[in-house]
Amino acid sequence: MQSLSNRSKVVVKKDLTFMERIYLPAIFGGMLITIKHFFKKKVTLNYPEVTREYAAVYRGKHVLKRDENGAERCTACGLCAVSCPAEAITMVAAERKTGEEKLYREEKYASTYEINMLRCIFCGLCEEACPKEAIFLTDVLVPTSFERGEFIYGKTELVEPLDKRVDISIRQTQAVLDFKTNKQLTHNRI
Ligand code: SF4
Ligand code: SF4
Repeated sequence: MQSLSNRSKVVVKKDLTFMERIYLPAIFGGMLITIKHFFKKKVTLNYPEVTREYAAVYRGKHVLKRDENGAERCTACGLCAVSCPAEAITMVAAERKTGEEKLYREEKYASTYEINMLRCIFCGLCEEACPKEAIFLTDVLVPTSFERGEFIYGKTELVEPLDKRVDISIRQTQAVLDFKTNKQLTHNRI
């Protein structure tokens, strides 16, 4: 069949030379390459005894933040769920009752909030979409398990403990804060 691109070449099968037929030069060449690697710096680590240093903004397990008074910041607006490309987030919204002001920062809060860690691809879009600075990804690895059900993280796993606050300041750069407080942007007017 005629080529349309004119880039085709006719390949001729050449006979092997004597040196190629005995394979020894190729074997020694291969061994030389292997031996050279003994003297090079190793690129592998003896994990888990040695762990590699993560980037400062490594995206691992999520945290649902509390405000400075300890109240949950999430207002169950659903923007994180809508922005999630993996559809990993679900929640149920509830209305704050009188006397619950110390528990929930806004009048509406998430009575149930779940992330399916098997679906999550750790893209960080939920963090970017949140207008309340309520959800952040941390540098904590999601532990492994043989049970699929254990990867559904609810508020117990996600909400920041009162006595063990999670520092996410490294993810809150001034540029991010400016973006999130710019009232010209629709999502900041919610
Ligand atoms: S990190 Fe990405 S995939 Fe994971 S829950 Fe957030 S938006 Fe969804
Ligand atoms: S976007 Fe933020 S405030 Fe809205 S539901 Fe998600 S975590 Fe809560």
